[in-house]
Amino acid sequence: MSQPLLKAESLTIAFAGIKAADNVSLEIEKGEFLAIIGPNGSGKTTFLNLCTGYIRPVSGEVYLEGEPITGWAPRRIARQGIARAFQIPQLFTDQTVRSNLLLGIASRQGVWDGLKPLARRRYQEEADELLELLGLSAHADAIAGTLPEGLRKLADITLALALKPRLLLLDEPTSGVSALERFSIMETLMNAMRTKGLTALFVEHDMEIVERYADRVLVWNSGSILAQGKPAEVLQDPRVVETVVGV
Ligand code: ADP
Repeated sequence: MSQPLLKAESLTIAFAGIKAADNVSLEIEKGEFLAIIGPNGSGKTTFLNLCTGYIRPVSGEVYLEGEPITGWAPRRIARQGIARAFQIPQLFTDQTVRSNLLLGIASRQGVWDGLKPLARRRYQEEADELLELLGLSAHADAIAGTLPEGLRKLADITLALALKPRLLLLDEPTSGVSALERFSIMETLMNAMRTKGLTALFVEHDMEIVERYADRVLVWNSGSILAQGKPAEVLQDPRVVETVVGV
């Protein structure tokens, strides 16, 4: 059997005596679309920070396809294949969507060779492919700051995908977006993930989104995993209803 894409083993970290991760262990398989839910302050963001190197655990290990990455700098982990699209989009708001993406693609190379014609053409082709994948071709020349929130979120995801990640981490991909738009963002995102065979972990507060799109859901509570499994089953669990769904 192939090893999990990401494995967290007994991760523990406390802030001012409160455990934000309390001996957390979990595995993410390749190709999974995994949701994280839980009340505010339960440790969801801390887990993402532990995976991306922004926080070091007091104890425990994180493995990416078997390689221990615990304690690595965030940049090194990003280069190794864990990309994070932040809740607040990180686009240069005064640049076009395409320029943002070209910068993202060029930055992956580590050296700036974007002025060489051959490299430019290659980057442009790659940018166009990503824009099409996320349904943004018609907005390629729009100034990023003028895009409506839903499209900005998709544009932000193209930036994360430009890093060619093995694992994509998303903080509430549909927050701040109208109910109608939420589903279309998720449909687009899901199709892109399936087309590319990508693996993603997303923090979400909307249970309808979780139920409809996640392959698996992890329920966080007080720095621990309260429950995990298929959304249809987990979201019916009385402990989960009491802690998250019914809140
Ligand atoms: P969630 O994402 O589920 O809302 P967080 O992971 O942000 O939860 O927070 C979990 C707990 O850890 C909270 O009590 C929060 O106040 C605390 N915490 C998280 N990050 C820090 C930090 N950098 N410094 C101090 N306390 C933190």
